[in-house]
Amino acid sequence: MGSGMGRNRGLIIAGAGVALLLAATLAAYRTPAPLGTDAAATVFSAARAREILKELVGDGVPHPLGSAADANVRDLIVKRLRSLGYATELQTGLVCNDFGACATPINIVATRGDVAGKDAVMLAAHYDSVAAGPGASDDGAGVANLLEIARILSVLPASRHPIVLLVTDGEEAGLLGASLFTREHPLAKQIKAAVNMEARGVSGASLMFETGSANEWLMRLYGKSTLEPVTNSLTYVVYKMLPNNTDFTVFKAAGYQGFNLAFIGDVGHYHTPLDNWENSSPTTLQHQGANALSSVLALADAPDLNPPAADSMFFDVLARTVIVWPIDFVMPASVAALFLLSIAAVLLVRKGHMTLRQAVHGSIAALANVLLGGALSMGVLVLLRFLGRIPALQAPPWIAHPLAMHVGFAALTLLTATAIAAWFARRAGFWGLWFGGSMLVALLSLAAALIAPAAGYVWLLAAAAAALGCLPSIIAAVKDRAPSRGAAEFAVLFPGLIAFAALLPMLLLLYSALGAPAWPIGSVVLCLTAGFLLPLLANATPAARRRLTWLAAATTFGAICVTVLLPSYSASWPQRVNVEYWIDGDSGRAHWWLQAASLHLPRAMGEEVKFDRAPRERFPGYPLKGFFADAPALKLAAPELTQISSSGASPAHDASPAAHGVSPAHMELLLRSVRGASVAFVIFPASANIHGIEVETPSGPLRIKLQQLRDGSTVLQAPGIQEAGLRFAVAAPAAPMAVRVFDESYGLPEALPDGKKLQQARPKNATSSQDGDVTVVQRTVYLDPAAGR
Ligand SMILES: [Zn+2]
Repeated sequence: MGSGMGRNRGLIIAGAGVALLLAATLAAYRTPAPLGTDAAATVFSAARAREILKELVGDGVPHPLGSAADANVRDLIVKRLRSLGYATELQTGLVCNDFGACATPINIVATRGDVAGKDAVMLAAHYDSVAAGPGASDDGAGVANLLEIARILSVLPASRHPIVLLVTDGEEAGLLGASLFTREHPLAKQIKAAVNMEARGVSGASLMFETGSANEWLMRLYGKSTLEPVTNSLTYVVYKMLPNNTDFTVFKAAGYQGFNLAFIGDVGHYHTPLDNWENSSPTTLQHQGANALSSVLALADAPDLNPPAADSMFFDVLARTVIVWPIDFVMPASVAALFLLSIAAVLLVRKGHMTLRQAVHGSIAALANVLLGGALSMGVLVLLRFLGRIPALQAPPWIAHPLAMHVGFAALTLLTATAIAAWFARRAGFWGLWFGGSMLVALLSLAAALIAPAAGYVWLLAAAAAALGCLPSIIAAVKDRAPSRGAAEFAVLFPGLIAFAALLPMLLLLYSALGAPAWPIGSVVLCLTAGFLLPLLANATPAARRRLTWLAAATTFGAICVTVLLPSYSASWPQRVNVEYWIDGDSGRAHWWLQAASLHLPRAMGEEVKFDRAPRERFPGYPLKGFFADAPALKLAAPELTQISSSGASPAHDASPAAHGVSPAHMELLLRSVRGASVAFVIFPASANIHGIEVETPSGPLRIKLQQLRDGSTVLQAPGIQEAGLRFAVAAPAAPMAVRVFDESYGLPEALPDGKKLQQARPKNATSSQDGDVTVVQRTVYLDPAAGR
């Protein structure tokens, strides 16, 4: 063993490498500077898109499905498309989704030139917003970008395949416009690929996170055409685990190829009044717009829009280029890396540089490093949750000041690694720890290849780098020489830094994507990478190891303290607090229901109205709890559910009972909001066993499943319900049933001063979200299947 400096050299290089990669990654993934209004007519300019966005949503008025503001935005879009020379058509009709929602959205479909009979490419975004906010980023940005791209297409020569522009309605209410398009529109069958622009935040890089079944072909196209691609196949695997859907879900189900683009920064503003024009990011607009333009043009100029279905493993390198590997390559490559590492290990044992015992201890160390790191980080998360610093389980999992914990969890990984290295340094030695760390990533790569091949690129890269990195040492060993210190350090630095580089872009997005659970997940993957740090830590001087341990421990502790001291909510990451006014049409009584994400009643609001201490379900079976308070009862007309007819014949597609020779009765019902509310709901009791409904649509009857609540009751939603109401049929139950019907209008009644007071008392670090504050009228309707037969 040499001098301290010599022994610590590997660690110093690792530290410098990590710092360099962090700086390079942060710089590479910065969103591009927005181009001005003076940019060339054929390039995408965020400044121009932002002017359009201001015209669409600059007034800050929310425009949910079916609202007057929705119609207003629609008119503006149509006017602009027509002025650009597009044949623009409104498509409407009744449609239902797979979550038990039925509505009549109005889509905008625009084309140029002769489209008839040709394979086509589509560019899509949705123009409706949630009721709580104007949706400047979700999805006003998508619409403004679509209109700027429409202008560019109008000055470019026609592409090989025509480009159809689709601006959907009712996305927020459950992908209804997209469903209507793919189900009813004559052009839907001609579309082969779509580019969809979405948002789950208001800033950050535009991520390409979802593709079609011809993934390999698509990703090569995307890599070639996109200037600043941010994409990888792991993101898609993670996305599929989240309960998020976009219009692209519908497009994909219709068999379209294509790209789904979205940005996820500043999720605190998402679906709130803060998703306004002022808060929308020009650089994000530029990134998403330029990427959407280049990818839609690449698709439109592709020779063949019917490529073979083939998956791939892909990832971008510093937002400059995309590496695409066929999925069939993943398994052989993983096996090859594992095989080469095994041979290297056998040679090291044969030549006396590592004993079997050391290899076993090294493997235990690598595993213990991950388990300890995982356990410690889960422990810290539970502690923060216990101290009330991490939101309750029902709340969105982000906090106002996460930076300290980003650093804290990274430090926790280092703390784990230094502890494990101190414990195993002597027992496992350098090569034992090398073996443990390398084998772990190689086995992980193999496991990923078996379970989710596209997800494992970080570990495949790490395993391949480990197999390559040990070559100088192995060559020395074969020549009966001891591997030099440099060669040995290279054997762990090379795979360690490659793995870290591959992991970092994903790691930097993980918190935006998942919130607090990203921390333990991030810790575990960092610990896997830190397996390559263990041999360097084992080589280092005990003094250096001690210093690192103290530094890591102090940083972790400091981060926890800072997080505990700082508030969980702020003006830019506000708590979500909605106020609801409920009238019970049966009893004539009324109440407030205040839903706060933290499950703590904001004090100022509690001072205005006296709420019950314990939160309760909104209604039986509803997943969220909130605070109740008595309220003065206004006279508002209750919604109606009328039995139009009841017959012994089964609905057209209900074949199963007929197999037993029995035709079940069915009831035709009409749901109406007498007071013109925006959304109506019907809740069928569990005992009625009603799991689906049937509606008459332009292209024939449509049977859909209803969503089931926890108590077994089922829900039909009618967002944007029109004056004529919603007609539907259900299989009649055996006995009369009591059905709960309610309708919801946005905002609180003007006639109630307490409502205004509650809204004004909502603190600066709180905001309404989603449907926002609403007025609900509910009643019970008794339906008798025997009546009217
Ligand atoms: Zn959206």
